[in-house]
Amino acid sequence: MLQYPDAKAVVRALAPDEPVILTRPHAAARAARFFVEKFHGKSMYAVKANPSPDLIKILWDNGVTHYDVASIGEVRLLRGLLPDATLCFMHPVKTARAIHESYFEHGVKTYSLDTLEELAKITKATTDEAGNPAKDLNLLVRMRVSSEHSELSLAAKFGADLTDAAPLLQATRQHCDALGVCFHVGSQAMTPFAYVQALERVRAAIAEAAVTVDIVDVGGGFPSVYPGLEPPPLEDYFALIHRHFEALPISYSAELWAEPGRALCAEYSSIVVRVEKRRDNELYINDGAYGALFDAAHVEWRFPVCALEDDLIKPLDDFAFYGPTCDDADYMQGPFQLPEDIQADDYIEIGMLGAYGAAMKTGFNGFGATEGAIVTDEPMASLYRGDRIDPRASDNVVSLR
Ligand SMILES: *Cc1c(COP(=O)(O)O)cnc(C)c1O
Repeated sequence: MLQYPDAKAVVRALAPDEPVILTRPHAAARAARFFVEKFHGKSMYAVKANPSPDLIKILWDNGVTHYDVASIGEVRLLRGLLPDATLCFMHPVKTARAIHESYFEHGVKTYSLDTLEELAKITKATTDEAGNPAKDLNLLVRMRVSSEHSELSLAAKFGADLTDAAPLLQATRQHCDALGVCFHVGSQAMTPFAYVQALERVRAAIAEAAVTVDIVDVGGGFPSVYPGLEPPPLEDYFALIHRHFEALPISYSAELWAEPGRALCAEYSSIVVRVEKRRDNELYINDGAYGALFDAAHVEWRFPVCALEDDLIKPLDDFAFYGPTCDDADYMQGPFQLPEDIQADDYIEIGMLGAYGAAMKTGFNGFGATEGAIVTDEPMASLYRGDRIDPRASDNVVSLR
């Protein structure tokens, strides 16, 4: 892939007809090193946030050795890319064949579950042909916790309720080498207290079950920075998690795990789009709800934007976007702030799309082709750059370009 200083250089060189995904390897490397150095436990990358092989190799090269995979497709992808990585199959509902293949062919020992049925499925699918059950499983019971502090809920679908957790932990203990508890506070958790609350629930479950717990996995949810969503420093999250983990009634050798997705890759990518038409303050651009802007359309996520024409000097105004497909739902309300004289044929960079951006792309309506380029400038905002708006309020938020 060709390398450029920034998005403007890409537009000058390519005048691209299709959206261009810009990647910033240095930003992903910096995020990986931050987690590896500052989180006192294992940080496994949640592959669904962005399964790009280039990204995964950058994370590996910067110390991320564990990967949270959720489908046999992700297991095969990761095993092909990283033969020595530790893979953890953290989807609480798997097929028996996916478990069998991942255990016997890809060496996956770690699985999550939230029901007795899934426990039975895992034990059966990992029993060998001679009838010997697996003796080396790490099984993590996924607990339901509140998503109230997060922008995207993960509370409805998975997780054992507190009342069911104790018997499930006791039953799971019989079938594993290491027993764990995991949860997910929801994506883009805006305060570290989300984890404190969840760990309190874990404490209650462990106390009631009276079993030895070897792994506490605090899941994903670590935030990135977006307009209107400026979280406290990640160090605050880590400090509170460390303190509350230490206070749990678990063995001295118990391990702390986390499953960051968004926080490891949000800064890795942005996208260059072109305005194809303007109607009042609605811009028809060449990527959208069925492309990398799924969250902008479906949960009204406001990504930062920047006009790439040098001669646009007018004050900013609020714009909404339409994507390229023929569907009315291909609409992103924003508001996105751009120069008021922006017009057709102008290019825009949309930032902070490394997580749940390109990963969501479809080919609906014949759109979806993209080019790629590496850029060396900074992402539009960063949790890891250390520049502060207000050192007391926040250690990490940077001004948008
Ligand atoms: C999606 C997901 C993650 C990653 O979540 P982020 O909010 O992106 O950090 C981690 N673990 C599980 C089980 C998930 O489903």
